[in-house]
Amino acid sequence: MEKDKIGLNTICTHVGEIKDEQFKGAVSPMYLSSSYEFLDVDVKRYPRYFNTPNQEHLSKKIAALENAESAMIFGSGMAAISHMFLAFLQSGDHLVVQNTLYGGTVNFIKEEFPKYGIEYTFTNGYTVEDFENAIQPNTKLIHIETPSNPLLTITNIKAVAEMAKAKEILTSIDNTFASPVNQNPLDLGIDMVMHSATKYFGGHSDICAGAVASKEEHMERIWNVSKNLGGSLSDMTVWLLERSMKTMGLRVKAQTANAMEMATWLDDHADVSKVYYPGLPSHPEHDLAKSQMKGFGAMLSFELREGLNSYRFQKALKLIKSSMSLAGIESTVISPHLTSHALLTEEERKAVGISDQLIRFSVGIEEAKDLKQDIDTAIAAIK
Ligand SMILES: *Cc1c(COP(=O)(O)O)cnc(C)c1O
Repeated sequence: MEKDKIGLNTICTHVGEIKDEQFKGAVSPMYLSSSYEFLDVDVKRYPRYFNTPNQEHLSKKIAALENAESAMIFGSGMAAISHMFLAFLQSGDHLVVQNTLYGGTVNFIKEEFPKYGIEYTFTNGYTVEDFENAIQPNTKLIHIETPSNPLLTITNIKAVAEMAKAKEILTSIDNTFASPVNQNPLDLGIDMVMHSATKYFGGHSDICAGAVASKEEHMERIWNVSKNLGGSLSDMTVWLLERSMKTMGLRVKAQTANAMEMATWLDDHADVSKVYYPGLPSHPEHDLAKSQMKGFGAMLSFELREGLNSYRFQKALKLIKSSMSLAGIESTVISPHLTSHALLTEEERKAVGISDQLIRFSVGIEEAKDLKQDIDTAIAAIK
């Protein structure tokens, strides 16, 4: 379709770079000024206005990656999501939101929305009907997350977007797990796409940032609220994020290929009872994932067989670290029952499919054979 459009790695490498006119250096100069001339200038620049040279230019790379007209960079993924929500929801409005959602987003909704008089409904599931059933007369926004955390369920992006559009309700998506390398939701009809840039955009576990991309008119509305809330990112970190994003296409493709190999291997493993990965033909939404994703991503989850202690397993791993975060070039694991879902009772966890045997696996760029050996050695050590 897009014959003239430049390819992924070219966007990652070049779009939005700032030309070093003065010294002809290869990389974008870093502009650290928080003070800019204001008399007789076209743009009144200020870091909290999200329009310093580095902020403005890196936004172009993000917009290009999501096929968006415009984008903004934030100080964290939560700044991106909270500023986006508060731009489209006010007192008396209602949000329909997917039941399986990043924990921080759940906390933001439950703890902050009541203070603003914003109503919300978590869906009962993730089918289009589940979203439609949750709609109220005052619903202004539907927010989805796919693939979801930690069970990698797949929501039908196009179907939800079409259903919402027919009712004149806006839609947003948390596209963090897929990254723009593997999924472009705006092409499927979603109105706004957000990312925790802390994850695949950064990719080296050393940056906290967020991003939103959309049409100009929606971004303008987000900007109007964001300049008041103040969640911008410092120019030093913007510059580091630009450097990281140059290799995002390479990194995420390598991680995605590794994840497919690890998922297939774990699926056949005698000590693993279940694998959750949309790339496996046994995944219930495999065909849907295939139709809306360019790759199946580098996140997967698996259950150790009964009798193997998941805590001891993680302690026994040598190469793969346990980590609260995800998406770095190094492989990491986490136990959802000890972290994101620790506050639920065992019964409640069962109801949402989070067993004590479940391990979420963020697959990095190491050689798959070394990851397999690390897992086998750890399992042998706890038997
Ligand atoms: C990490 C994460 C966030 C929050 O991002 P921060 O950068 O930590 O604020 C939101 N959504 C998903 C899916 C995430 O993984």
